[in-house]
Amino acid sequence: MKTQAALFDGPGKPLRLAEIDLAEPGPGEVLVEVKATGVCHSDVGVFTGKLPAPTPLVLGHEGAGIVSAVGPGVESLSVGDHVVLTWLASCGSCFFCRRGDHHLCGRPRTMLGAHTMPDGSTRMSIDGEPLRQFCGLGTFAQHTVVPEGAAVKIPDEVPLTSAALLGCGVLTGFGASVKTGGVRVGDSVAVIGCGGVGLNAVQGARVAGATTIVAIDMHDERLELARKLGATDTVKAGPDVVKQVRALTSKRGVDVAVEVVGRQETVNQAVAMIRRGGDAVLVGAGPGVGVDDVLNNVVMAGKNIHGCLYGSARVKDDIPMLVDLYRSGSLLIDQLVTETFPFTEINAAVDYCSGEQGARAVVES
Ligand SMILES: [Zn+2]
Ligand SMILES: [Zn+2]
Repeated sequence: MKTQAALFDGPGKPLRLAEIDLAEPGPGEVLVEVKATGVCHSDVGVFTGKLPAPTPLVLGHEGAGIVSAVGPGVESLSVGDHVVLTWLASCGSCFFCRRGDHHLCGRPRTMLGAHTMPDGSTRMSIDGEPLRQFCGLGTFAQHTVVPEGAAVKIPDEVPLTSAALLGCGVLTGFGASVKTGGVRVGDSVAVIGCGGVGLNAVQGARVAGATTIVAIDMHDERLELARKLGATDTVKAGPDVVKQVRALTSKRGVDVAVEVVGRQETVNQAVAMIRRGGDAVLVGAGPGVGVDDVLNNVVMAGKNIHGCLYGSARVKDDIPMLVDLYRSGSLLIDQLVTETFPFTEINAAVDYCSGEQGARAVVES
């Protein structure tokens, strides 16, 4: 079939809207009409050239839509189902999946590294030339074909514009606090960087029962949003944030710090602002970023550093859990959609995300 997609031809070039060919879903695959897609910092990273990726490519890895066809052997989904797309379609049977560590499954690595289906092929093409699908999804299109495991059914009444965020920002941020960081009732938590992921780390900490939640960001608008989502204190990003966080925690430091920005300076701040024996959760680290003086800053203080991949999520269980929290009013998602754009204005949505405005821009079809 033919569908509309936004093609990425190389860093710095505006996305090109074009009609593309989409193959029928193969065995174990589904065709999804994408109704909403969030623009995440990883998309912008590719767009600006910070994250290398092969071209031509259809970006987008945070989406929601409606199943419009299923391939042979698909059992968990039917035509008409509302779904959230996820870039971590675990196999369910490998060493890691059997341990319950679905986020460590090896199968999605092709989706993440080569931006293809798990078998290395792709369902999108233009003029006979294959188009890569970012993270195996390619949600900057009006339709896409994905593995059955990359689509998780949600109730019809959940608005798809909000649901789109479940597939990356919400799952990652919420999981960074609750699952990777293991925040407990009464804990103190600091979150460095309050965009689409960090704000969900803030609300994850609130849902888990943290009683001190310090949001750190350089933008007042985001700090204000963080308060609405559960932050008890806000601190403007800068060189003395560690001192300010310590002052809020009897000079001891927080139990858990979640670092989403990924700069050398903020990673060191995250490690420095946790108490002795505390937990630093690193979500955003960019290439080449490390931790200074591990002996004194980590070992001698008995601190723990955790790498956070996709909020340590077990997607098939965690997305329904997040939907339940949303429906009960505990998890706020509508408030995270701070701007929406029509599909034809997808470049404006990318600009909005690059400008670090609000929480999330969602493109609606
Ligand atoms: Zn993302
Ligand atoms: Zn697996």
